[in-house]
Amino acid sequence: MKRGVLVVISGFSGAGKGTIMRELIEQYPYFLSVSATTRAPREGEVHGREYFFHTREEFQKMIEAGELIEWAEYVGNYYGTPKKAVEQQLAEGKNVLLEIEMQGGMLVKEQFPDALMIFVAPPSADELKKRLIGRATESPEEIESRLKRANEETIYMDKYEYIVVNDDLARAVEQVHSIIENKSCEPYYCEKFICSMKEELAQFLEGDVIS
Ligand code: ADP
Ligand code: 5GP
Repeated sequence: MKRGVLVVISGFSGAGKGTIMRELIEQYPYFLSVSATTRAPREGEVHGREYFFHTREEFQKMIEAGELIEWAEYVGNYYGTPKKAVEQQLAEGKNVLLEIEMQGGMLVKEQFPDALMIFVAPPSADELKKRLIGRATESPEEIESRLKRANEETIYMDKYEYIVVNDDLARAVEQVHSIIENKSCEPYYCEKFICSMKEELAQFLEGDVIS
């Protein structure tokens, strides 16, 4: 009975977006879009689950074929959102999560003005550095590049509708979930429900009202 909400979730690398996404899809029936990327898989990452891993040539072909809603370069690699799955899931009324960086986020907002924009921030810069080091998936040089990128990305923070500070994980997950729930109560997302309510009430008045 509801229209699906397209949710853009961005934040500095290491803020905890991926962790929040995993919790959300475990607890609630969200559809998490799987992006395409040219970066190498991290240990344990599976093609089609965390990302669709592609060569630069394959990625270029996807761009040319118009298969991506948006794409961006991030610290030397390309990342993009496949269009088909997102459109399908929205058409089925599912809430769709896009965990993407900010240039891509801005492109999504241009194409989908109703997209809900959420920015996940760490409680402090020091904690961000600790999380990136603690995750141990990048080299010290790569961590430095990501922190430099975070410094540049601060200009996007006030372009988002909500800032969720990921201090306590469970609290951050609940905040993101309730922001989405609230959005989906807006009349635009309840259009079908409104129509059926109108029809049902009109039908009552056509017949014997109290029987
Ligand atoms: P992102 O997807 O934003 O790059 P991750 O989800 O990979 O970030 O999280 C980065 C690191 O921080 C991971 O090691 C993760 O376990 C840890 N982390 C995530 N959320 C929290 C939190 N609320 N408190 C402490 N550590 C966290
Ligand atoms: P990572 O290499 O840590 O998985 O991701 C690096 C950055 O790319 C993160 O900020 C992540 O949100 C972003 N990202 C992941 N998928 C996409 C995508 O499809 N499009 C864009 N624009 N960014 C993405």
